[in-house]
Amino acid sequence: MLIDYHTHTFLSDGRDTHEQILQSAIFRGFSEIGFSDHVSVKPIDWALPVDRIDDMVSRVRALKDADTKGVSVKLGVEMDYFPDMEKSIQQVLQSMPLDYAIGSVHFIDDWNFDSDIAPYDAMDIDRFYQQYFRLVQQSAKSKLFDIIGHCDLAKKFAYYPSFNLDELYDQTAKVFKESDVVIEVNTSGKIKPCEEFYPSAQFLERLAHYKVPVTLGSDAHVEQNVGQFFDVAISALKALGYKEIASFSQRKRKMVSI
Ligand SMILES: [Zn+2]
Ligand SMILES: [Zn+2]
Repeated sequence: MLIDYHTHTFLSDGRDTHEQILQSAIFRGFSEIGFSDHVSVKPIDWALPVDRIDDMVSRVRALKDADTKGVSVKLGVEMDYFPDMEKSIQQVLQSMPLDYAIGSVHFIDDWNFDSDIAPYDAMDIDRFYQQYFRLVQQSAKSKLFDIIGHCDLAKKFAYYPSFNLDELYDQTAKVFKESDVVIEVNTSGKIKPCEEFYPSAQFLERLAHYKVPVTLGSDAHVEQNVGQFFDVAISALKALGYKEIASFSQRKRKMVSI
């Protein structure tokens, strides 16, 4: 089954409408398409503020009732993880009729390392990676989310630590398993300076080792990118022994074959 659970519409920082994203999924032969616009409990320009959630929900609901040519439409969300705001995050998630929630780390303190490139050059990159992975582990342990988004985003702009990442990958994979979360193979990294999926091949190998369940997300911000590089991602998963990926309805996980 082909599933894409990570897409953005014009409501957050994407370009296209829900209908355009759905049409792209139909055209590409997908069985499920999930909408996961950004929602944040702290004000961020790319995310929907909490008071616009109703609009987001009603648009996806309308699509669920429309003729989708057999494609199952899912209501997701990509929610920023802030360790000091777990309660508020939980309240927002519980208030939404979600099929699944993706938890993503885009911030170290007040720095949005996903879009603000300026600080990298003067940054202690080793420390940045330690902080990043600590937060990602914490987001999994919080049990707030069904899926952890782009779980090695620290590499996005191709700044790498001086130490070998194997140990951090291993430790983080173990935390994912213990926390019973699903990890997305987010293919958008391929068109970013790091030029590889999130997670990297070495990290994915550790996830497979601990039998951490995975799902697929393109992180498409335009309709053309729905399902981008999924053939490559699925081959990589199969090569590591994965036979199933996770699908969600009303926040209940079901494994489906790939
Ligand atoms: Zn993200
Ligand atoms: Zn995203």
